[in-house]
Amino acid sequence: MLKKIRIFSLSLLFFASPTLANVNFEFDVLDKSPKIGETLKIDIHCNRRIINPSATFAGRSWTVTYLKKKGFMYHYVLYAGISRYLQPKTYKCVITLPLKHSSFTKTVTFDIKESQFPYGTVSLPKTKTDLANNKNQLSIESKLISKKFNSKTQPGTNYKFKTTFMLPAKGNFSSTFGKYRKYKGTNKLSSKHSGLDIANITGTKIVASNDGTVILSEPLKSHGMSIMIDHGFGIKTIYNHMSKLLVKTGDIVKRGQLIGKMGTTGISTGPHLHWGIGVQNVRVDPLHWVNTNGLYNELTN
Ligand SMILES: [Zn+2]
Repeated sequence: MLKKIRIFSLSLLFFASPTLANVNFEFDVLDKSPKIGETLKIDIHCNRRIINPSATFAGRSWTVTYLKKKGFMYHYVLYAGISRYLQPKTYKCVITLPLKHSSFTKTVTFDIKESQFPYGTVSLPKTKTDLANNKNQLSIESKLISKKFNSKTQPGTNYKFKTTFMLPAKGNFSSTFGKYRKYKGTNKLSSKHSGLDIANITGTKIVASNDGTVILSEPLKSHGMSIMIDHGFGIKTIYNHMSKLLVKTGDIVKRGQLIGKMGTTGISTGPHLHWGIGVQNVRVDPLHWVNTNGLYNELTN
């Protein structure tokens, strides 16, 4: 579903300074009324180089990434995650666009709609409750994962994905994104599920959901055997509870490439893959990335 709206195209004429003559911006907004858990995308085109463009949205700052130059136009992309903990309402996104001799700002208003997240309970086997109650271990791992989700892509290697993300495994969706879950018999607080659980038998193939670089491949105690892939533009995918890791940190992977096998390692009730996607460290709905054509960039030239 592609709802691309060109919202702004403007030539700014500055007769006083020949260097500022005919500065032209174009802003393409993928969807002005996205839902909680989806990802915002704004394409910015300018006939001047923008020096470190940035944005603010939902109380934090976001990096805007340079994509390419086509003809006279420089193309930049902003991806921002709409956290599952945000309230549905109107939010302003303010983009700061510094040029060599001047600076512009552009405000885009988003009408963020509610998502209906279901409720559920998780019954853990006795052998796993101690693990779920080990808050110290969980917090150590959460910090590591958060650091990886926040890490910067190596400059010049950020043009990784050029088509939609694919489901990394075959199976049933046993828990969807945003679902409220309470772990029975543990002190683990109910929280909105940070990814999509795909359940199948142990050993089911798990593939990279898009092109990228492996930035984590480790057996973690709580999250189980885990892999994270950096896809550029602040987008990363995570794969947890695996039984086998078949790639290592630093490996370049292609969309559909085998990276591991399904398992039930860590805090898990049965064989499944927890698949998550983060946008500059904000977890968003992976299915939005599978189903939305407009989220990737055409990189044919
Ligand atoms: Zn999960």
